[in-house]
Amino acid sequence: MYDYDLLVIGSGPGGQKAAIAAAKLGKRVAVAERRDMMGGVCVNTGTIPSKTLREAVLYLTGFAQRDMYGASYRVKSEITIADLLARTQHVVGREVEVIRNQLLRNHVDILGGTARFEDPHTVTVAGDARGDHKTVTAEKVVIATGTKPARPAEVAFDDDHVLDSDAVLKMQRVPSSLVVVGAGVIGIEYASMFAALGTRVTVVEKRPTMLDFCDPEVVESLKFHLRDQSVTFRFGEEVSKVETTSRGTVTSLASGKRIAADMVMYSAGRQGVTDELDLGKAGLEADRRGRISVDEHYRTSVPHIYAVGDVIGFPALAATSMDQGRLAAYHAFDEPARELQALQPIGIYTVPEISYCGLTEAELTTRAVPYEVGTSRYRELARGAIVGDSYGMLKMLVSTQDRTLLGVHLFGTGATDLVHIGQAVMACGGTVDYLVDTVLNYPTLSEAYKVAALDATNKIRALDALAAEA
Ligand SMILES: Cc1cc2nc3c(=O)[nH]c(=O)nc-3n(C[C@H](O)[C@H](O)[C@H](O)COP(=O)(O)OP(=O)(O)OC[C@H]3O[C@@H](n4cnc5c(N)ncnc54)[C@H](O)[C@@H]3O)c2cc1C
Repeated sequence: MYDYDLLVIGSGPGGQKAAIAAAKLGKRVAVAERRDMMGGVCVNTGTIPSKTLREAVLYLTGFAQRDMYGASYRVKSEITIADLLARTQHVVGREVEVIRNQLLRNHVDILGGTARFEDPHTVTVAGDARGDHKTVTAEKVVIATGTKPARPAEVAFDDDHVLDSDAVLKMQRVPSSLVVVGAGVIGIEYASMFAALGTRVTVVEKRPTMLDFCDPEVVESLKFHLRDQSVTFRFGEEVSKVETTSRGTVTSLASGKRIAADMVMYSAGRQGVTDELDLGKAGLEADRRGRISVDEHYRTSVPHIYAVGDVIGFPALAATSMDQGRLAAYHAFDEPARELQALQPIGIYTVPEISYCGLTEAELTTRAVPYEVGTSRYRELARGAIVGDSYGMLKMLVSTQDRTLLGVHLFGTGATDLVHIGQAVMACGGTVDYLVDTVLNYPTLSEAYKVAALDATNKIRALDALAAEA
């Protein structure tokens, strides 16, 4: 008899939802988590603090209102790091409590400390204090240990002048200038937040482009906006050295350029957190990036051990991790479940934000799928004028063969929420005609769907009319 039916290692979105799902099935469940990390990277250092920081930046800088009240509009003229982090600490504290309460309410035991395998069914959880450890056995195990920022060995991180994305939340001051190394999602989100705060930002990226999985027109709009806020992009450039003095940093690039800045933030990928698990004792191993391989049911090569969330790699998003955790628990206890929908949205919380669902124009062109584009610009929507967003846009890609939606791409206010309308229509196999024939609240940003749908159908009608004559 094992101590638990399920032991979950890590309390991020994947671990949490695995534990709750198993508890709802009446199983005896425990979650092992470091005492100061309840809720995982998601709640403590990743999604929630970064999105709260973004909200604090938008509010205090008055950024979203400047179209209305002028470029010098500010809610607070001198914004300190304490102003920004107060909101973050409040939200993180609240979320930690919600998660702890949810686990306890569902009779999930919380084992505080770092877990490591003794054998495939036995795990020791050790806290920081001497003698603070507990060894437990479990029939099934879910590994949901997530990732941590990769820190290149040659860079001297001091969490003051040279930081990674975790250390941003412990900054002592708002930098006057910042070099962001890496134009991935996390790097570019933070770059845009600091630019909105008035920090002079330089982004260094070794690839020639950024966010190339997104619609190029949307990425161009973002780059235009960021340049307008004094962001400098150095694409196709590699950092060779970062030097620190008491007053700041000098970043040298392989091309010979040197950039002086108050701080440097590295956002150079993430590494799976598997080094402390002693995976070998469970009969498992991780790849060189610390990731664990799983099958379509999130089962590792040891059938009673599952792995979910960022530790298994792509897409490494909180929303996906949650569902992976739930599905792993269902599979472990033979509870029938449907697979996740293949159609998943992507949200990038830059300032302004980006979101999309489905295919891009480049993908459709490569696959030789004929389509028409319907576009709506927020500046032509009453709600766009009301909220002061003159740059936002929605682009809809419509099949000219069967009028289904193939992709929706949004840029601007509310993009990460609005995308779900397009996602729902696409997932249900709906056509552009649904959006033409349906009545939407007015004045809303959702109206962008109607405008874009009319734009696309007008173009398709014009094309059909000419084609009939030809
Ligand atoms: C700056 C940033 C911004 C992000 N923004 C977004 C966003 O806007 N939207 C989005 O969907 N996703 C976002 N993400 C990604 C999102 O945070 C992750 O996809 C999500 O947190 C992964 O969940 P997870 O279940 O894998 O566990 P994680 O949240 O990574 O948590 C893993 C937990 O496991 C614990 N752990 C590790 N090893 C052990 C051990 N041996 N014993 C006990 N506990 C252990 C850790 O302490 C940690 O608490 C962001 C990430 C970052 C870094």
